[in-house]
Amino acid sequence: MSKIVFFCIPAHGHTNPTLGVVKELVNRGHEVWYYSYNTFKEKIENTGAKFISCDIYDVEKNLKPEDAAKIGKDLAFSTKILVDTTLALDEMVCRDMESLKPDCIVADSMAVWGKAIAIKLNIPFVSSTTTFAFNQYSAKIMRQSISQMLNMIFSMSKVNKDLKRLQDKGYPIDNILSIIQNDNETNTIVYTSKEFQPCAETFSEKYSFVGPSIRETTENIQKGEKKLLYISLGTVNNIMLNFYKNCITALKDSEYQVIMSVGNNIDPEKLGEIPSNFEVYHSVDQIAVLQKADAFLTHCGMNSVNEALYYEVPLILFPQTSEQGGVARQVSNMEAGIYLLKNNPISIQNAVTTVFNDDKYKKNASIIAESFKKSGGPAAAANAIIKVIQNKK
Ligand code: UDP
Repeated sequence: MSKIVFFCIPAHGHTNPTLGVVKELVNRGHEVWYYSYNTFKEKIENTGAKFISCDIYDVEKNLKPEDAAKIGKDLAFSTKILVDTTLALDEMVCRDMESLKPDCIVADSMAVWGKAIAIKLNIPFVSSTTTFAFNQYSAKIMRQSISQMLNMIFSMSKVNKDLKRLQDKGYPIDNILSIIQNDNETNTIVYTSKEFQPCAETFSEKYSFVGPSIRETTENIQKGEKKLLYISLGTVNNIMLNFYKNCITALKDSEYQVIMSVGNNIDPEKLGEIPSNFEVYHSVDQIAVLQKADAFLTHCGMNSVNEALYYEVPLILFPQTSEQGGVARQVSNMEAGIYLLKNNPISIQNAVTTVFNDDKYKKNASIIAESFKKSGGPAAAANAIIKVIQNKK
């Protein structure tokens, strides 16, 4: 049996898809260690993996909000955070890895310290990608802006100084792209289907498109005769009081049942009177809700969209970041949903009515669902990891 180590960033959207894979590996008798953050301890331990806390090495936790907002946008700043995190974890993780001697490291594509440590210690590596797989072709659908590109070029000298700090600690990494980007040589698990992935034909056979990894539900959602609309902006950029208020204004007198998840930082009292056809929660069992929902007004986080399409739920697309914009574009291109054009009650009403009245969105969502269900799920992801281990032996 093999020893496998997972690394992830502190985000539900990046952790959730890995849980089914970890459970599958544990059920097959493999030992799994999972380096993550205390918020995720219970979820991870429920899979049977051993949880190791990285909280005291969390560089991001101590950032000012204006600096935290630069991560992922400012390459020099992002590199500094990645190097700081890798160096903060270096001693503990290298010591652990030397005594554990894992057969494979699986790291989220943004937990780049996992990849850096695998390179340094020459341990077989698998990347876990919760977004679309990314290369020069699929990047076009993400439409990286010119200013982001310029920022990247001009920040290279600062980036190189930070990389030198890694090299001084024995990391043989000579360019930042080798660590933040997966090429066609990197074994990569992608939690969507080939059919839904943009430019799927441009990725090598090292990419395993396994479809979404759907968690078990903990609840049974009550649904009446009315059509059920689910609304959520995910778990990260979800503080949009005025959007939630507009949803209430738009749909309070409608014939629809509405479940709205507003996140932990919105006080439901601030939403005013909650109409009788609405249920508002800080967080819901999204899988349970999607099993019953007829449409989903979403921020287009990759997990939310994958989960909804898995249950054949058509989408109303309200992306907030460029990555979510890429996901929205793909859904819109495949006509499994439509854009919410403006954050106001009339637009919300129009978008909801259109999705409920035109069958084509539901039909196209069902076609994508079928592609997900034949992609193999957690079992296929576990097979891909085991194959990497066997090929190295
Ligand atoms: N989620 C949930 N309950 C909620 C809201 C979200 O369980 O009330 C889960 C959802 O099922 C998904 C994840 O949180 O797995 C959100 O990930 P996504 O990539 O959609 O968005 P992010 O939160 O990363 O922006």
